[in-house]
Formats: sequence, C-alpha cells, structure tokens
Amino acid sequence: MAAPSLAVPVQGNPRFTRRLSSREATRDSLSQGPTVVVPPQQLMGKPSESHEVAASMEIARHELESSRTPSPHTPSETIVTDKYAFAFDIDGVLIRGGEVIPEAKEAMKMLNGENEYGIKVPYIFVTNGGGKTEQERCVQLSNQLQLEVSPGQFICGHTPMREMAQKYTTVLVVGGEGEKCRHVAEGYGFKDVVTPGDIIKDNKDTTPFRKLTETEYQDSRARKFSDVEIEAIFVFADSRDWAADQQIILDLLMSKNGRLGTRSENFDEGPPVFFAHNDVVWSTSHDLTRIGMGALRVSLEAMFKAVTGKELKTTAFGKPQIGTFEFATRLLQQWRKDTHQIDSPPDTVYFVGDTPESDIRGTNDYDSIVGNTWYSILVRTGVYRDGTKPRFPPKVTVDNVLEAVKHGMRREYTKLLKAKMEESAVEE
Ligand SMILES: [Mg+2]
Repeated sequence: MAAPSLAVPVQGNPRFTRRLSSREATRDSLSQGPTVVVPPQQLMGKPSESHEVAASMEIARHELESSRTPSPHTPSETIVTDKYAFAFDIDGVLIRGGEVIPEAKEAMKMLNGENEYGIKVPYIFVTNGGGKTEQERCVQLSNQLQLEVSPGQFICGHTPMREMAQKYTTVLVVGGEGEKCRHVAEGYGFKDVVTPGDIIKDNKDTTPFRKLTETEYQDSRARKFSDVEIEAIFVFADSRDWAADQQIILDLLMSKNGRLGTRSENFDEGPPVFFAHNDVVWSTSHDLTRIGMGALRVSLEAMFKAVTGKELKTTAFGKPQIGTFEFATRLLQQWRKDTHQIDSPPDTVYFVGDTPESDIRGTNDYDSIVGNTWYSILVRTGVYRDGTKPRFPPKVTVDNVLEAVKHGMRREYTKLLKAKMEESAVEE
C-alpha cells in the first residue's frame, strides 16, 4: 500500500471556499471565507422577524454566489472540512486580562488554512462573558486576534436572554459599565429597561453608601418607582458595585410584585432573577483567579436566606447549561451552512476551555446526550492550574490553545488514516 499523502483526502462532496484571482486576492481574503453576518436572533426563530431573516439570508446567498465565481487565475483551492469543528471559550483561552494569549493568533491561522493538512476548519466562540453587544465584542475580538469574527459565530453569556424579551416588559438590568447593559437589553427587544442608577436617582436613600457620579445621574432616567412593577431581574454582566446592586435586588425580591417600597409578608411575591452565567471565579491579568458573577449569585442566595429565612431560587444561563450548548449547536450549524455550505452536523466538535466547572462539565454533559462527539480540551492558561485535579475531567489537557488545535487536527488526521487503511485492507 502506498504511503498516504499528508493532504487530507477528499471524502464525499468536497466543499471549497471562495476562489479568488491571485492578482485580486489580499492576504486576508485568502485566509478567510466570505463574511456572512448571521445575527444570533435569527437562530431564535422569532416569527416577527421572518422577513428580515429572509432578506439577510438572500444577501448572504448572493455574497456566497459571487464569491464562488470561478476565476482563471485561481492558484489553488482550500478544502473546508465537514467532519469536525472547533468551539472556543474566550477568557483564559484566547484572551487574558485584555491581552491576547500569545499562541491564540497562531491557532486561528492554523484553522484558517495555514496547516500541513491543507484544510480549513470552521469554528465558533462561546463565552460566558458579556457586558456589551455581540457586535461590539466581535469587533474587539477581531482586533485582538487580527482576524474577522462575525456575530454569526459568537455567543456570550447573555445572548440567550434575548428570548426573555417576549415574556417580560419592565425589567431591572444589573452589571457592566455605565449604560452599556441597558443598551444591550434594549437591543434584545426589552421594552422598558430599568437600571440600579434609575432607582438611586429616584430615591438616593436606597443605597446609603453609594452616590451617583454626575455622569451617572445624567444618564439615569427619572421616574417614580412607587408606580412601577418590575417583572424580572437580569444580571447581564459583573456588578461594579456589589453592595448597592445587592441591596436593590434584595428590595425587589422581598417586594410585592416587584414594586419598590413594598414588602411581601411571605417573601414569595418578588420577581424572578436570572444570571447570564454561573462562573464563581474567572481568569484575569491577576496571578490568581478573581470572583465573578457566580459568586454574586451565591452571595445573594445566602443573604436572602439570612434576611427572610427562605430559599431563593435563581436561574443561570451560560455554560455549563445544556441550553447554551444546544444554542451553540444551532449557531455552528447556521455558520457552517452560510459560510461553507455544509448542511450536515459535524461528527466531532472540539470544545476548548479553561474552566472545568463550566467549559469541561458542559461539554462532557452535552456529549453524553447528543449523537455526535463533543470533545473537551482543557488548557493551562486560565482558571485551571496544573497540579490540581479538575472536578470535571477533560478528554485531554494541553498547555495552550495552539496545542489544543494541533491535538484536534492531529486526532482527525489519524482517524482518517486509520479509516483509509481499513478501506485498503478490505479491498486487498
Ligand atoms: Mg474561560
């Protein structure tokens, strides 16, 4: 039997990325497929937006058609694999404390075709972080990684909260910088978004030790909260002021039907509270992990118990919730279809994360209930530190994201070689 070529053999229908004239092509256009922005709301299937969806899909199709026009100067074609895909956590994997982890750019280049196998691998990003719009975060990530990241390949912790805009009208939105999370929530379709600043502006005695700055006072909206019923509380991003935010959340949880200034007799008439994720710690530029939104949740539940004697039920989105992985599956499916015309699910999704409790746990749990393989890879550049035993063991632990990509690609190549050899053995 002849030694197998290092180029991955074409199986079934090969999918080609855009063909470009070698004279027209820029380095970027060769290393990236056509950009098709698929806003996450399209994955939610809201009937009211069907026209908008149809229109943007038409634009996407047009872009794809024009980008596939054959050119006589085409030097070569790059095959996009339909067998597998990657999904990446961001903090502690690609970025740490606002800085790119050195190996991240190289890892992305490998997936975009700069590898010994001559293929491109589709990928998405699934972060528990948030606090700004998906579009803003994609622009930031694009600059950091020096490649184009589209909202169509990106989920953050609060993305699934978009679905709740249908259910609740007046909501309290907590966390993030300034007015950013109010704008995110309004962008999701929430009709009446209240912030802790609005409440302090109406009654400065709400938080005895927290005064609004001049800018905060100007940005906060004036209204009389004695007339307002807040139907739900959403913690979109990390609180910048735990004491004040918790005081306001507690006031609402203990109120009659979310009306500030009232007290329920049995403390079970308050609005529900939702968290974008449940990560107790996260990886920043500090040597040790820092407490995050999951810690606020624990604190709030303990405080509610201390004050009322009752258990508080809260809901968290994000990883490791199965819903987030189902959402990631839909996103990946749409992304592969729109940019690479792949219409079948991948056999394997490699999920690269740094937090055993969210990334690895979620990937392993999801793997146990779905038909294809979700393969968990833990990196040593974030929350997890060598020498400790992760509570949720990954399939493999590697030093960094580049090693994770190399591991997945090598594993796939080995699988392919094995299949080829078995095929040849049968023929002989
Ligand atoms: Mg992380």
